[in-house]
Amino acid sequence: MTEESYKGIPRNKIPWYPTIDYEKCINCGKCVEYCTLGAYEFEEKDGKKRPVVKNPYNCVVLCTGCQSQCPAGAISHPSKEKTRKIIKKLQEDYDTKTL
Ligand code: SF4
Ligand code: SF4
Repeated sequence: MTEESYKGIPRNKIPWYPTIDYEKCINCGKCVEYCTLGAYEFEEKDGKKRPVVKNPYNCVVLCTGCQSQCPAGAISHPSKEKTRKIIKKLQEDYDTKTL
């Protein structure tokens, strides 16, 4: 994992990472190339290679860079607004714990 924590919260508590819609994905590999943090990898399935979100917590919180690179519109992320609220709530929880 590249970032162990985000604003004092363990990174793996924050549900932020891309999701691939395989109904739309055309296996072009742009996402795998584009994300230099290694969130994606190609994986072999039924003799075919396809991208998978192998390291979801390598994804930078609130980044959506790869989404606009996908020519098939197959990549989505959670709502930023909802995620900000989740982060705020988690920060409060972690602040209370450290008191
Ligand atoms: S960029 Fe989009 S279409 Fe290309 S491999 Fe990634 S998810 Fe599939
Ligand atoms: S949103 Fe950004 S950090 Fe996350 S997988 Fe895509 S390019 Fe990588």
